Amino acid sequence: MATATLPPRVRIGATQLLINNEWVKAASGKTFETINPATGDVIAEVAEGDAADIDRAVKAARAAFERNSPWRRLAAAERGYLLNRLADLIEEHADELARLESLDNGKPYEIAKAADLPLTIACYRYYAGWADKVHGKTIPIQGDYFCYTRHEPVGVVGQIIPWNFPLLMQAWKLAPALACGNTVVLKVAEQTPLSALRVGELIIEAGFPAGTVNIVPGYGPTAGAALARHMDVDKIAFTGSTEVGHLIMEAAAKSNLKRVTLELGGKSPNIVFADADLDAAIEGSHFALFFNQGQCCCAGSRLFVEEKVYDEFVERSTERARDRKVGDPFAEGVEQGPQVDQEQFNKVMGYIDAGKQEGARMTCGGGRVGDRGYFIEPTVFADVNDDMKIAREEIFGPVMSLIKFKDLDEVVERANRTVYGLAAAVWTRDITKAHAIAANVRAGTVWVNCYDVFDSAAPFGGFKQSGIGRELGEYGLQQYTEVKTVTIKI
Ligand code: ADP
Repeated sequence: MATATLPPRVRIGATQLLINNEWVKAASGKTFETINPATGDVIAEVAEGDAADIDRAVKAARAAFERNSPWRRLAAAERGYLLNRLADLIEEHADELARLESLDNGKPYEIAKAADLPLTIACYRYYAGWADKVHGKTIPIQGDYFCYTRHEPVGVVGQIIPWNFPLLMQAWKLAPALACGNTVVLKVAEQTPLSALRVGELIIEAGFPAGTVNIVPGYGPTAGAALARHMDVDKIAFTGSTEVGHLIMEAAAKSNLKRVTLELGGKSPNIVFADADLDAAIEGSHFALFFNQGQCCCAGSRLFVEEKVYDEFVERSTERARDRKVGDPFAEGVEQGPQVDQEQFNKVMGYIDAGKQEGARMTCGGGRVGDRGYFIEPTVFADVNDDMKIAREEIFGPVMSLIKFKDLDEVVERANRTVYGLAAAVWTRDITKAHAIAANVRAGTVWVNCYDVFDSAAPFGGFKQSGIGRELGEYGLQQYTEVKTVTIKI
């Protein structure tokens, strides 16, 4: 593949492994190509970490976690200052980072700038605020004892992140772990290593002590698996597919019973009642599905619409999808860029074929856009039933499935008929229906008359096979602390 000229004002930062605050080559000397999904051209060669590099990184993180290390000697408030300093540096470089994110991932630059960057910065600031507010309790036990708990860091934390929101997923992982005093080895996704490595440079600049944060780009079955099974990693936090989530848990079980938190796939029901504000529901459901090229674990990918308004909803959702502006992620007003890589492109096209073969009615899209890069037309399927593959499996692409329903009890039962439980939404003007959905759909998040509303303070995570544990908010801290009980005879 040819290496093309970069879009204007894109700056590539580090492309090596960050271990102990130094940029180093992989032990094997190997590199891999990271690709611009809008063109298929190579952007850069990146060091390919493997088991040996993971081991080096874990050793650095362990040394940084030792008693009396510079990191452990910091006061809790000082960890907060460092996180705030990092947030400030990311803010100073927000435009540069948005461009890099867009180049490596394919998401529109304007959207990266307006959504990914502010959310990323807010996450570091939110957890900076928590750093000196993580504390235990005093407990009135029986007898002449003084009993209290300490909320201590878990230790060396392994973190594995996906490619759909590289900067944001890095923030969701690093910020709470560091606020609580852990040290980290972060394995970034092979499709999108560049922005996380650039943040690595800012981490050094912010003044984090050596070994606190180590970043290893590389592949899942090599670097990722080595981290999950490492005997000196105390906890693993993973975001990605449910399939790999099973492997992570298995690796933890077979190694040292490290703590596991998982944020996995979804097939989230988005339920529209006939009494809803239809303009808002149509636009909101379009956003729920197509945002980020459909590459969201919480995408509203089972769109249940009450039968009274179903035909109108199909027609108007189709019009909206046809209007969606697909193209060069750096062009003004573009809503949708390419899928992240050839593999995802093929997978999504496979689901479009499956939808057609199983008899769903395709009302728009279905094809490729242009002749290079991994662009897919916004695609809408009507007359989808619950048993079709497109209604059961996570597509992770711009493919909407509209499913008809009659009443509340029926839709609750059907919404829950899935192995997933990440998110759900309901559109209605009837507060009773809204509460009934909120209380009865088994999912970690329920949005009412809105979708994809994220805030660092609000926990996020899955029921069932969508995951274990919660990220963000105060709940996110629990995943990065061990509780110690201290009992003193008095
Ligand atoms: P996707 O299919 O969307 O790429 P994955 O779950 O495969 O999602 O990838 C998410 C992250 O998990 C990436 O960083 C990837 O490299 C990593 N990964 C993939 N396979 C494994 C594995 N066997 N062990 C550990 N990490 C893995």
